[in-house]
Amino acid sequence: MTTRSANGAVRRRAALAGLGGAALALAMASPSAHARGPSVRSESLSVSLKPKHLNLVVAQTGESFSDVFADGERYHDDGLARLNRLLRDFRTGEIKPIDPALFDLLARVQSQIGQPLRVLSGYRSWQTNHMLHLAGFDVAENSLHIAAKAVDFTVAGIAVSALGEIARQCGAGGIGLYRSGFIHIDTGPVRNWTGD
Ligand SMILES: [Zn+2]
Repeated sequence: MTTRSANGAVRRRAALAGLGGAALALAMASPSAHARGPSVRSESLSVSLKPKHLNLVVAQTGESFSDVFADGERYHDDGLARLNRLLRDFRTGEIKPIDPALFDLLARVQSQIGQPLRVLSGYRSWQTNHMLHLAGFDVAENSLHIAAKAVDFTVAGIAVSALGEIARQCGAGGIGLYRSGFIHIDTGPVRNWTGD
């Protein structure tokens, strides 16, 4: 599977040539271009093209992603699409675009850990979240999983408390440490809690 779209190559060439944002947008406006991924601070394109990598395995489906999903501030469309599908509501099959900042956060966490993150929950539909809440799981009714801004995961051999400290250093918003052995992180406001 390709990791870099044709757009990515155009962007890279344009950025290397020192083109500004407007010229870059024109360069990307060719009819054959795929849809662009969200752009973050595009003015810094020529400054940082460092690839961002993630290595995720989803516990319930066995599906995984080990690839580059962005060059610097420019996300790869195909990488985001694969990650959005990976972190879908596996109970309903529903896919919702995940906040790309969550992937950035996960990449920072992973760079401190250097091994796969085992994902237990990414996006959750309102129905799935409500069902889990009614079933007695420690699930907030207005969970940021519903907004596709949260992920729960474990890492083999690393205590949840240690993961919490790493997540804090990496700029996580919400950090929930669960006694059953996983951590929740999200891109919402800074909060800390423990759960069952
Ligand atoms: Zn969670």
